Amino acid sequence: MKQITVISGKGGTGKTTIAAMFYALSNSVIADCDVDAPNLHILLKPKIIEELDFFGMKKAVITDSCTQCGLCYELCRFGAVISDDEYSIDVSRCEGCAFCYNACPEKAIEMIENKSGKLFVSKTKYGYFVHAMLNPGEENSGKLVSEVKMKAKEIAEKEGVEYLIVDGAPGIGCPVIASLGGADTALIIAEPSMSGLNDMARVIRLCEHFKIKTFAVINKYNLNERMATEVEYYCKNNSIDILGKIPYDENIVKQISNIEFPFKGNAADKIAEIWNRLKEVV
Ligand code: SF4
Ligand code: SF4
Repeated sequence: MKQITVISGKGGTGKTTIAAMFYALSNSVIADCDVDAPNLHILLKPKIIEELDFFGMKKAVITDSCTQCGLCYELCRFGAVISDDEYSIDVSRCEGCAFCYNACPEKAIEMIENKSGKLFVSKTKYGYFVHAMLNPGEENSGKLVSEVKMKAKEIAEKEGVEYLIVDGAPGIGCPVIASLGGADTALIIAEPSMSGLNDMARVIRLCEHFKIKTFAVINKYNLNERMATEVEYYCKNNSIDILGKIPYDENIVKQISNIEFPFKGNAADKIAEIWNRLKEVV
């Protein structure tokens, strides 16, 4: 089983559209690792078969042994200790650093596991699908991405599918690094714009750092053919093969808004060609 991670330096490049089409065209399991803003479930209309709680970082809780000395209030640099009638913790501000826990002279603070999201295992007409949702304001999405990917990998191995397709988190931060973990191949979806080129350059460096075989695709290339040529030039100079260029296609935009999946038309045909090329090189 091969893991293919589809990434882009930022959101809005068409990464999810392309990953979803690869899933529909193959014997695979797909994981939506964009846990801060997941949207693959909207396209795939999954039937949830398992729901698991996600516990992020531990957070402080003040217990009954508190003598109201106020030390934790003075020490917490995140302003998470509130002073009303009694001291208490604002969980949404607590960064889980445990400074108060270690400092409290009465040992009146406990660090408690905090439920900060959900992980879902679903079935779609194309196979298994794993995604997650962080609660509003919660962080630690890198850890949740790793859990989503681990679960998807476990199912992919059990089901004996050929591919694990990972719709990676956008950007270059911790969630993207977690999305790339264990990948056999990374596919970068680039846009033909100056910011698209810069974003792509950053993710290429990330993939180089982790020594992952990397390819690129230029999406909506005909919106700016001069910049598309710049992107191609950059890829050539950095030994990244471009597996294809997808045209901007009004049809696909309409199909996304009407949630008509799998997509059809010029762009969808091009994505199918790219998938066939990717299978050869993964
Ligand atoms: S440091 Fe401990 S005893 Fe003092 S206010 Fe905080 S929880 Fe209470
Ligand atoms: S764990 Fe850290 S952030 Fe949370 S209340 Fe204690 S000192 Fe503040």
